[in-house]
Amino acid sequence: MRDIKSLDIKALEAELSNLGESKFRAKQIFTWIHQKNVQTFDEMLNISKELRKKLKEIYYISHSSIEKKLISCYDSTVKYLFSFDDGECVEAVLMSYRHGYSACISTQAGCKMGCTFCATGRGGFRRNLTAGEMISQLQAMESDQNVRISNIVLMGMGEPLDNYDNVIRFLSLVSSSDGMNIGMRHITLSTCGLADKIAELAKLRLQLTLSVSLHAPNDEIRNKTMPVNRRFPVDELLRQCRAYAKTTGRRVSFEYAMISGLNDTHECACELVSRLKGMLCHVNLIPVNEVKETHYRKSSKQSLREFCDYLNSHGIPATIRRTLGSDINASCGQLRGEHKF
Ligand code: SAH
Ligand code: SF4
Repeated sequence: MRDIKSLDIKALEAELSNLGESKFRAKQIFTWIHQKNVQTFDEMLNISKELRKKLKEIYYISHSSIEKKLISCYDSTVKYLFSFDDGECVEAVLMSYRHGYSACISTQAGCKMGCTFCATGRGGFRRNLTAGEMISQLQAMESDQNVRISNIVLMGMGEPLDNYDNVIRFLSLVSSSDGMNIGMRHITLSTCGLADKIAELAKLRLQLTLSVSLHAPNDEIRNKTMPVNRRFPVDELLRQCRAYAKTTGRRVSFEYAMISGLNDTHECACELVSRLKGMLCHVNLIPVNEVKETHYRKSSKQSLREFCDYLNSHGIPATIRRTLGSDINASCGQLRGEHKF
């Protein structure tokens, strides 16, 4: 059985032709799945009984079931633990901003990258999600809260560029005007820095925001927290980021989680400035989220302020990111970690 939610209209047309069906059904089926969010083939009222029967034999419609839900009492952030048909679980978060709703979704169940500060990384890898499973997280949040999502960040569990083909397929599905119709400019893809895939992504010239989890200005510190740095050291990563900004004309955003005494010193700020000079970029500073079983502690408010001011006064645009849902551990991997299977 295959996930029909992962097929775009072109792919559906080809499959329908093979079944001896008219191609124009593809758009109808796509709309039922992506705009009307049907859970079963029998809800597709303008599709004949015979075709529905055929479809049921070949495909399933992927679905995210809510296992657990936490609502922040500080803001209206909602955090979800979703499960799929095979029992795998992932997390997603719905945040409300003045301009609309923003959803943070997962691209893999678990993650192979093993970043030492990250709850997901500590939990290991389970499997890649299909494009349809990424779509279904958005749909589940929209129908649970009865809202329309306008922005997406691929910052939940998993490394999007380690599930490259499915993520690219997802981007095309979610931005389709016959589907959820969320434009690339409203999508952010966050990566731990798979430089080879960044180069591949640049060639597509998508208008999305690339966010790179840098978290350190040099190999010495980055090697300690991010094993991926041994494959793609800082120099090589930043070279690809510069090329990405040049090719796409889009500003690259760098995530920098401030860990007390590790990457938050004045020297680190100076080194970061010299590394990023001249690049079309922005730095997002966040106090590290203290994950159980790690010894990392948040930098002080003052260190964050000083670091941020130094970057800004030396030509690197930087902001301290507002943390939403801090009472519900709205950062990735923590809810799944606590969930008893
Ligand atoms: N794998 C991708 C996207 C998912 S992680 C990536 O690493 O970019 C989303 C973001 O959360 C990344 O910037 C990641 O570095 C950050 N993150 C993970 N654990 C964190 C923690 N304990 N505190 C602060 N940020 C964290
Ligand atoms: Fe994976 Fe991102 Fe967590 Fe690193 S920070 S372990 S890449 S999810």
